[in-house]
Amino acid sequence: MQFIRKNPLIIAFFVLILGPTLLLSFFSFRNILNANYLAEKTFEENRLDFKIALETAVKDEHNSFLQETKAAALFLYEQPHTLTDLNKNSPYKKVNGVSSIYLFNADTLVYPHFSKLFQHSQKTFSPITPSILEQEIFVTEKQFPEQAMLARSFRLIHSNLETKQEQTMNLLGMIRMAYKNQNYEEALKLLNILEKRHKQEGYLTPDLTISLALLHFEIFIKQKQHRKAEEFVLNKLELFLSGKDYGDLYSVQFFFETVLDQILSFEDLSQDSREKFWNLRENLNREFSHSESYIEKQNDIIQLFKNNEVENDGIKYSLQGNDILFRMSYPWLPGAQIIVGLLDKKIMQKRFSETIISIAKDWKDIPYAILDNKDSLIISNSKESENIAFEYEIGNGLNWRLLLYEKDMKELQAESRQRIILIASLIILSLITVIVGIFFMLRFIQQERKLLSMKANFLSSVSHELKTPLTAIKMYAESIAQGRITRKEKVPEYAKYIEKGATRLENQIGAILDYTRMENGRSAFQWVRLNLATAAERVYETLKPLAEEKGLTIEKSIEPDNFISGDNTAINSMFQSLVENAIKYTNAPGNIFIRVYSEKEKAIFEVEDSGIGIPLKEQKNIFNDFYRVGDEMTRNTKGSGLGLAIVKRAADAHHAIIKLTSKPQKGSTFTVQFKKVE
Ligand code: ADP
Repeated sequence: MQFIRKNPLIIAFFVLILGPTLLLSFFSFRNILNANYLAEKTFEENRLDFKIALETAVKDEHNSFLQETKAAALFLYEQPHTLTDLNKNSPYKKVNGVSSIYLFNADTLVYPHFSKLFQHSQKTFSPITPSILEQEIFVTEKQFPEQAMLARSFRLIHSNLETKQEQTMNLLGMIRMAYKNQNYEEALKLLNILEKRHKQEGYLTPDLTISLALLHFEIFIKQKQHRKAEEFVLNKLELFLSGKDYGDLYSVQFFFETVLDQILSFEDLSQDSREKFWNLRENLNREFSHSESYIEKQNDIIQLFKNNEVENDGIKYSLQGNDILFRMSYPWLPGAQIIVGLLDKKIMQKRFSETIISIAKDWKDIPYAILDNKDSLIISNSKESENIAFEYEIGNGLNWRLLLYEKDMKELQAESRQRIILIASLIILSLITVIVGIFFMLRFIQQERKLLSMKANFLSSVSHELKTPLTAIKMYAESIAQGRITRKEKVPEYAKYIEKGATRLENQIGAILDYTRMENGRSAFQWVRLNLATAAERVYETLKPLAEEKGLTIEKSIEPDNFISGDNTAINSMFQSLVENAIKYTNAPGNIFIRVYSEKEKAIFEVEDSGIGIPLKEQKNIFNDFYRVGDEMTRNTKGSGLGLAIVKRAADAHHAIIKLTSKPQKGSTFTVQFKKVE
């Protein structure tokens, strides 16, 4: 704690990093506790936005629907007058959602024009039934065609004797035979007679008229007179439109469908004409189908057309059973023009549903439903049981309703709970990161400071180590130099002290040099094949006197010839340091054992002592630079804390492994395992 108090850097850490982080975390926590309330508020705001977006989108869609209808109506207003003018049959742009359109101007129906024609076309014709004589001719026709032909011609000469029906039957028979005999000119001549006559009431039924027209057309095709066939169809169309030549709606429709299909299959039809006939067929078919629906729903349509109650925007919807009709007038349309249209309910719903769904995509969380005028569900994204919060009219007159539901509170809470957990874990994680960061930073600073103090210690102990032998050398050398020695036999003794001091000095300087050498790493070594046994013997011999002087027994068990690849000086100083330490940290009486042996691929050097031992928690530190165990024995023993650091570096450079087993007061064993070489 004192260390923390003394260190301004740590205070700065607390003030600048941990403090604000804690403060921030506190406020974030407080904030997320409000998450439920916030979620509810946001939900309500979103729901309102959703409603507005939906209304706008539906309104826009409705407007574009009306614009399209208006454009289609303008096209159709022109249609009745231009249908036979092939050049004016441009393609029609269908309105998605409208199945039929009926146009009125002032009081008259302008489109579909055909429906007017068929209003009066329900005439009754008596069916043509063959007489007995006719039946006889039919039989003869099969067996003796020549005779039958003669008989028919004969009968025609006496036509004034027969009824209209009999004359018609007769002519028909002759046409049929001419056609069968491929006498097309003859058949055409006879057809012309009959077609002219039909205008006189009662000659032909509408169906028969159409059949003859088809036959006429067919003969042109047989004769390969395609242009004539096209002209014939256009003439028929003109006649039909002018109301002069009509049958019932379905047979006329059938006729035009059949002939136009055939014309479109002509191979010699130019691209341009093909396009024109194609458009004609489309426009004709449309008018037929609109006419059909008009005839069917005439009463409702006219009722709505005549209902000119004031509408604010010119659009009125009328829901008749399953049908939805609409009326569109001024200001959408100019003057007295009025459109009545029949909606295709399914397509219309699809059109609007797509718009609604595309808007709802951005508001996934908001439960809603759209109901039609009959309360059936058009779209919904929610369960039925949910409470309705709001209900709005939507769809501009279609009588659709938008329901907005209350959000299930449990769901809302679950969502915000999830958010809380996420944010809380993030906050906790960042707090842990900051705290762990600060912890490591402090440890780093502490280690740095320790290293600094150890270096300072080292300097003082090194200078002391150097100074002690130097003082002794200086003292003895001065005594000799100044002739202060009275007894001559003392001189060799003094010289011995000087030599001892010098050796100690040499060793100290050697250790320091070794250390710097190790710092430079492997490159500073000279790699040779060397014998561990020789190195161990040498160290044993050198240090034996020192051990014995201290009252220790020193023994060895050295297997000869254990070769490794290494640097002689480094290995020597490594072994020497280990044995010196054993001597230094063992009190008399004690034992030291030096071993060299091999195990599989390994050559091993080992020093065992019965000394003071090293506590377990110190064992990992003693190899650090300048590290010395803080017990009394160590304090009383001279040393720099560099010895084992050098040993470790040398071992690393040799890829050797150092192992230590030690127990306080029992002793220590340092084992160095090298890789053997042959
Ligand atoms: P020093 O110069 O202090 O001996 P070392 O690096 O050689 O430095 O050793 C580091 C520390 O390890 C020593 O201070 C000592 O406390 C401890 N130590 C080393 N060898 C032994 C041993 N054989 N027995 C007990 N303690 C030892």
